[in-house]
Amino acid sequence: GMNCGIVGLPNVGKSTIFSALTSAPAEAANYPFCTIEPNVGIVHVPDERLEKIAKIVGPEKVIPAVTEFVDIAGLVKGASKGEGLGNQFLGHIRQVGAICHVVRCFEDNDIVHVAGKVDPVSDIEVINIELALADLESVTKRIQTLDKYLKSQDKKVQQKALISKPILERLVKTLEAGLPARSLPLDADEIDAISDIHLITMKKMLYVCNVDEANLLEENEHVKKVKEIAAKEGSQVITICGKIESEIAALESKEEKEAFLKDIGIEESGLSKMIRAGYNMLDMYTYFTAGVKEVRAWTFPKGAKAPQAAGVIHSDFERGFIKAEVYHCNDLFALGSESKVKEAGKFRMEGKEYEVKDGDVIHFKFNV
Ligand code: GDP
Repeated sequence: GMNCGIVGLPNVGKSTIFSALTSAPAEAANYPFCTIEPNVGIVHVPDERLEKIAKIVGPEKVIPAVTEFVDIAGLVKGASKGEGLGNQFLGHIRQVGAICHVVRCFEDNDIVHVAGKVDPVSDIEVINIELALADLESVTKRIQTLDKYLKSQDKKVQQKALISKPILERLVKTLEAGLPARSLPLDADEIDAISDIHLITMKKMLYVCNVDEANLLEENEHVKKVKEIAAKEGSQVITICGKIESEIAALESKEEKEAFLKDIGIEESGLSKMIRAGYNMLDMYTYFTAGVKEVRAWTFPKGAKAPQAAGVIHSDFERGFIKAEVYHCNDLFALGSESKVKEAGKFRMEGKEYEVKDGDVIHFKFNV
């Protein structure tokens, strides 16, 4: 999916962060493709480039890209055995594109910790082991049915099964050691051969350290430990203070929010960092459309050709694609206006085979 699932042990601050995230929901009318459910938050993706383009073009409306966060409750010790909300939880987490793992790094004696004390290393282990166990079960099931696929009349199915066999065996060892599937180095064909198992630990993970107000500016010991774990896995880490984020979220205007951030000495809110990091895990890029009516950011899959990228706006644009008029937003920033971009010969016509770049500004021509 094109979304991030928020997971973490109970009482680490997931709901606090999720409520802050969804306190300024994106206007649904602009994003008809989005799901509307209580545990799903559609949020604007902060992008300085969009603001800069809007400043130059001066449109009536500015519409940011959006991304989706899903609050996935119910991850506790024993979830992989289907205890508690376990089964439901695993079903949800298999659907998401990437995972934001909230880790409690704040001390607060009034708030009970499920394991009795604040210990991010052990918390992370509990969760990662549950996820690895759930994947181990999926892999074991696949191994049990592999013979059937190996004997399939369909050559493609047989070939895929053949490629997957040694990988599945390596996966068992990895997962039994409590390590995520993504720690196994695999090439594109190998990943493709097992992709239909939807392994949870194959998805990218962002660690979200929920810290005390006092620790926002300097790194505390808990955060240092999380960073060590993340470095070994190749995962990213951000710090956030759930309490402060909910205070910021309660402020009415953008100006008030900015003043508050300045006051506490941070440049960007934790939520902004979390949204951008989450979006970046989804292997998506952004292009822009820029007209006097509307300047808008659009999300498309990395590697998409021009017609597919046009299809993000409307399926008619993909079907009737003729050509794309393209320049890069950096050219606009360097030269100052679209006419200067044209004069400098940076304004190009591109056809069906053009691979759209992150940061392109595009005007599509199409047949209806
Ligand atoms: P969840 O169970 O993971 O969804 O956790 P909640 O968001 O419900 O938070 C559990 C408790 O911790 C609540 O009482 C929150 O107010 C509190 N809490 C959340 N974030 C912070 C924080 O950054 N600092 C402090 N001191 N308390 C927090």
